Amino acid sequence: MKPIEAFAVEHLMSITPRPPLVFVRGEGAWLWDHDDKQYLDFVQGWAVNSLGHCPPAIVDALTRQANTLISPSPAYFNEASINLAETITSHSCFDQAFFASSGGEANEGAIKLARRWGAAKGKYRMITFDQSFHGRTLATMSASGKAAFEPLFEPKVPGFSKATLNDIDSVTKLINDETVAVMLEPIQGEGGVNLAEDSFLQDLRALTDERDLLLIVDEIQTGVGRTGQLWAYEHASIEPDIMTLGKGLGGGVPLAALLATQSVSCFKPGDQGGTYCGNPLMCAVGSAVMNQVLQPGFLMQVSSLGAHLKDQLLKLSARHGLGEVRGRGLLIALELGRDVAAQVVDRALEDGLLINAPKPATLRFMPPLNVTIAEIDLALTKLDVAIASALRDG
Ligand SMILES: *Cc1c(COP(=O)(O)O)cnc(C)c1O
Repeated sequence: MKPIEAFAVEHLMSITPRPPLVFVRGEGAWLWDHDDKQYLDFVQGWAVNSLGHCPPAIVDALTRQANTLISPSPAYFNEASINLAETITSHSCFDQAFFASSGGEANEGAIKLARRWGAAKGKYRMITFDQSFHGRTLATMSASGKAAFEPLFEPKVPGFSKATLNDIDSVTKLINDETVAVMLEPIQGEGGVNLAEDSFLQDLRALTDERDLLLIVDEIQTGVGRTGQLWAYEHASIEPDIMTLGKGLGGGVPLAALLATQSVSCFKPGDQGGTYCGNPLMCAVGSAVMNQVLQPGFLMQVSSLGAHLKDQLLKLSARHGLGEVRGRGLLIALELGRDVAAQVVDRALEDGLLINAPKPATLRFMPPLNVTIAEIDLALTKLDVAIASALRDG
């Protein structure tokens, strides 16, 4: 066993404060660090490992594909990307896919596709939302409504106006002759698990139809079963024009997708590309993930696991006098009512539970979609102790 001091962490750029441990191994809902300490992981690579750590379905897909074909270049067709595009489009309202390696890249593609679609009419502006998160490229940071991004990397990419979630008038007011699209997350993940109401999504669909605008859903965090439906837009029974996927689609490997309906899918040769876009190694994993999530009963199970987690969190909240529990499926937040989320995260880590605090008073839970009831209950036991300790010490 190597002590933490033996790892030369100073050679990595410092992009975020990290706890003094190094993860070496994962299995299902569990992670092990350099000291062989075990953690129950309700972060899962940030809602990435839909099937948990190192699931056999992904290991098999990677191994099989790595032995067959890894990267022929996006200048040629490959079977794995064709298969994945067919699976996603046949289970959604979209007709065509473009694959990328990260969510930010997929959203960058969505912005470009919307601008391409609106170019002939001189339309390029997009309406996005306060507290939204769309990625860390310059354009997606500009699209994001994250306050901390505002002073960074000026000048921003122009053409983004921010409306207020669940306030349709705030959207209507921002529309002008140059507006091409409205883009939102059906549930704002990084913003603290804020739900776009179903009625708001329906109003947005009606408004964008009426004003000849595109409706773009960023389902990078909510897609592929996370909310108990395959896509979160299905809860509202709407059909968006463009959707982006990432995170859970790859189940832990770098895979993202841009989906569009036929009439909106208007890229011309030269508009879009990327060396690793649609590479078979990642697309084979995407198909393995989709195959599991599409098994009969899988999504129902996500819903009932989510209901159990929500239920237990509500009891815990009542016990400690905390705030609301919100979210859908297995994307759930607990409002603490005071700014102790960072302390709770620290205490939980000490006790072998990984959770995330998207805001100073908010905890977020993103277990694997195949987490067990026993694992949820164990997480709640550890959380109970962590919260009691954080509340006691302030
Ligand atoms: C994580 C996330 C992104 C960015 O994805 P990356 O893979 O980190 O580039 C964009 N939108 C949403 C909603 C996300 O949760």
